[in-house]
Amino acid sequence: MRLSQYFMPILRDDPKEAEIVSHRLMLRAGMIRQEAAGNYSWLPTGFKVLKKIEQIVREEQDRAGALEVLMPTIQPAELWKKSGRYDAYGKEMLRIKDRHDRDMLFGPTNEEMITDIFRQGVQSYKDLPRNLYHIQWKFRDEVRPRFGVMRGREFLMKDAYSFDISREAGQHSYNKMFVSYLRTFARLGLKAVPMRAETGPIGGSDSHEFLILAETGESGVFFDGDLHGMDWEKSGVNYDDVAGIAAMVEGFTSRYAATDEKHDAAEFERRVPEAKRMTGRGIEVGHIFFFGTKYSEPMGCEVQGPDGKKLFVHSGSYGIGVSRLVGGIVEASHDDAGIIWPEAVAPFQMGLVNIKVGDAAVDVACSRIYEALQAKGVDVLYDDKEGGAGGKFAAMDLIGLPWQVIVGPRGLKEGIAEVKNRKTGARENVPLDQVVGRFGA
Ligand code: ATP
Ligand code: MG
Repeated sequence: MRLSQYFMPILRDDPKEAEIVSHRLMLRAGMIRQEAAGNYSWLPTGFKVLKKIEQIVREEQDRAGALEVLMPTIQPAELWKKSGRYDAYGKEMLRIKDRHDRDMLFGPTNEEMITDIFRQGVQSYKDLPRNLYHIQWKFRDEVRPRFGVMRGREFLMKDAYSFDISREAGQHSYNKMFVSYLRTFARLGLKAVPMRAETGPIGGSDSHEFLILAETGESGVFFDGDLHGMDWEKSGVNYDDVAGIAAMVEGFTSRYAATDEKHDAAEFERRVPEAKRMTGRGIEVGHIFFFGTKYSEPMGCEVQGPDGKKLFVHSGSYGIGVSRLVGGIVEASHDDAGIIWPEAVAPFQMGLVNIKVGDAAVDVACSRIYEALQAKGVDVLYDDKEGGAGGKFAAMDLIGLPWQVIVGPRGLKEGIAEVKNRKTGARENVPLDQVVGRFGA
């Protein structure tokens, strides 16, 4: 992509409304624009990052055997009246009337709808287990939307729902999602610590939140430092291995980790030696619940059991805050100059900087490199706009692409370009004919 043809409205000054670093950097880098409180447009680079995160989330859900669907954002109120949550959900639910005066709502979550879909689609225990998920916009009329996309009112969530014939079978579905979350966050370059959690308005028995550590997090966190040394990648996991998956979950849940809501100071001190007691703040990026028959009973979601008798299905729900993760990753990965994207979610793999646009030799050298990189399938942002070198460097650092290739008249005379690693700041002079070989497959 040529910057001269792109849309990336960079702000020179810090926007006043931004209280935390991710919000500030996302606005300054031209990734998002606020339309109303907690309601954002995603501009080209922001949207690319969002899509990359979404795709990693999708791949790991698919790998764990979940099936993707897409439910509408607008839901009929009837479904929620059946579960009893229409009144219970309160002011966070955005309620709408259609032209026929029917009660509708902008979905804050989808337990009711998916339970109804499942009820109509299955008859027998032989149709279980199943896990259905979608990645869809939600609306929650938060009292205090803030911190940019971290606490929006309209936000993108992945929500999965499992259906099993018993509590025990449901435990395996829960465990599979637990492990898939570890993998998902690890691929995003994050360690999201699973912690015991309250179940909140979704309700249920078993629940874990996944939190990334950041000073600006809204939850206090307390955990065993040994968790840092765990295997977070879970590469080569076999999701059919019931005992193996349970052991992976046990490895994490047997160590103390709790948010302030569930924290028990006495237990923390008893179980974790002082030197290993970690405390801090965290951002909730995922939340899994097991709630059994809480929705299947009121909504009549039953199947024929092995003995011919009807039984209510046992369910769990599993959320990941896809749009919150964009801000969460920036919180976890930035410096004074700007964002530092992990390679897996960077909006472009690299930036090519022409520091003297209009100098024929530099223009030709840059165009050659740009075209060769494109031919190789490297996603490159080429700064071909007129402007001073200082401003260009600052903008590149701000938007945080993992690599920068800098070409100017002086280097060109010696036949070299400068290659800079955004994360380490390391710079290297590379012969022009070797630049392209450095990137891509
Ligand atoms: P919180 O405690 O932060 O308000 P929640 O517990 O109400 O979140 P869940 O119902 O657990 O949220 O939703 C699943 C996931 O969706 C959360 O783990 C979070 O990552 C994301 N999420 C929830 N609310 C928001 C929001 N207002 N803006 C962005 N992401 C959100
Ligand atoms: Mg939650």
